[in-house]
Amino acid sequence: MERKIIGFKLDAAGDWTAMLDCGHPQHTRHRPPFENRAWVMTQDGRDSMLGQVLNCVRCEEFELPADFVKCKVTPEFTESTMPAGLRGQHYTSSGVWGKIVVLEGRLLYCVPSKNIALELDSSSPGIVVPELPHHVEPQGSVRFMVEFYKAALPG
Ligand SMILES: [Zn+2]
Repeated sequence: MERKIIGFKLDAAGDWTAMLDCGHPQHTRHRPPFENRAWVMTQDGRDSMLGQVLNCVRCEEFELPADFVKCKVTPEFTESTMPAGLRGQHYTSSGVWGKIVVLEGRLLYCVPSKNIALELDSSSPGIVVPELPHHVEPQGSVRFMVEFYKAALPG
């Protein structure tokens, strides 16, 4: 999935890592002749890459960034109280991840662009990837809620 570069930092090994707007880091090493990214070695070079996109494999894997924190939880919904919008195509904003937590029953979680239709239950939550259209459909009687996750504030 294409994600924008929002910053850079050095990892523990001294290698440059791009921070993507999804919350995932991605190495952007300069290790000639294997990886040629001379631009990453200068501040100007790094600045020139801000806003450019890289393909993020971790988003394809539906991997919630490890250091993200829960910022909001919806009320508990049932098949009759859930907002109608959840049954139609919708998505979270840039940098906002979700976790669909089923408390009881079963909920079908669909991500059409990835050909994904997963049946969620109390032992298998659904991960919602930022900006990726999806919808849910109750499979009979169900109770569930959605948790939202964001980057922790610095400091
Ligand atoms: Zn990502």
